[in-house]
Amino acid sequence: MKSRIESLVRPEILALRAYHVPPAAGLIKLDAMENPYGWPESLLSEWLETLRGVEPNRYPDPQGEALQAALRKAMGIPSDMGLLLGNGSDELIQMLALTVAQPGRKVLSVEPGFVIYRMVGLFSGMEYVGVPLQAEDFSLDLPAMLEAIEREQPALVYLAYPNNPTGNRFDVDDMVRIIEAAPGLVIVDEAYAPFTDYSFMGLLGDWDNLLVMRTVSKMGLAGLRLGYLVGPTPWLAEIDKVRLPYNVNVLTQVSATFALEHKDVFDAQTQSIRTERGHLFEALGGIEGLQLYPSEANFILVRTPAGRAGAIFDGLKERKILIKNLDGAHPLLADCLRLTVGSPEENAAMVEALKAVMA
Ligand SMILES: *Cc1c(COP(=O)(O)O)cnc(C)c1O
Repeated sequence: MKSRIESLVRPEILALRAYHVPPAAGLIKLDAMENPYGWPESLLSEWLETLRGVEPNRYPDPQGEALQAALRKAMGIPSDMGLLLGNGSDELIQMLALTVAQPGRKVLSVEPGFVIYRMVGLFSGMEYVGVPLQAEDFSLDLPAMLEAIEREQPALVYLAYPNNPTGNRFDVDDMVRIIEAAPGLVIVDEAYAPFTDYSFMGLLGDWDNLLVMRTVSKMGLAGLRLGYLVGPTPWLAEIDKVRLPYNVNVLTQVSATFALEHKDVFDAQTQSIRTERGHLFEALGGIEGLQLYPSEANFILVRTPAGRAGAIFDGLKERKILIKNLDGAHPLLADCLRLTVGSPEENAAMVEALKAVMA
């Protein structure tokens, strides 16, 4: 069987390791940028009542019309722009790649960046080009980006705004230079939109190759798996052709529509996460030996003293706190850990554990 596997499976797939999600049972989960807050009891009962109307024996609405309308209303989507729904924005990243993939074509993004861009580029048979960010503050290296775009002529450029796993937001003028230089699509991935005041949504239409991608995951609906892509209708009509039918299931459609009608609840939660991000940043600043990177997302990247990230990660886990160890993920992330902003109690527990482990 082994030889048959090795002769059949594409070499680039054989060389991969499956995307690993560590088990988190019994741990304070500060590794995956989830919203720590549950739903108020009244909202829960109303939601469960809504689910009574669902018919699980029927296929969902193929376009998710009601959900699209709720998103347009809640998220300030320009009325002259198209809207496409995905099973998480991860699926939209894949649909974009499938739409343009041809041998020799390139997908370009920055490093360190969101790993799914690279994975999906590879899955779809394209080549992935990662351009390093600047070492000192993870800002865009504009000359290097423009040079890479000129050389590689990428079909797709993905830019996370703010960036994961660094947390910073790139310079708007640099982004515009990239959009103007790119021969293909530029997708601005605004997964962390609830945690920043900046967006490219209002600039859609200024360039015919700009698309904006969002998700409801980080605002507090990660379990529903819903992402959305916004941009000029002619582009979205093409991308819609590679979408598998019924990609957004009926429970997600109904639940997300319901949640968006109560967006004030989630706005209050994400606003409090933003406040807690400030408190956490301050508390982490009091820990000797930690270098902090400013964040406009719901996590903070920190650099530990050389060679200690693994031991600190393990020490936190012994104290029942799960974070993300990024040491080894990319040379620019040596000794780095990514800390999701949790509830005040969770953050305090993490800070205490860090102090104990680093003392
Ligand atoms: C979390 C994240 C996503 C994934 O969103 P889903 O909708 O949960 O698939 C996309 N892009 C970036 C940059 C992210 O950090």
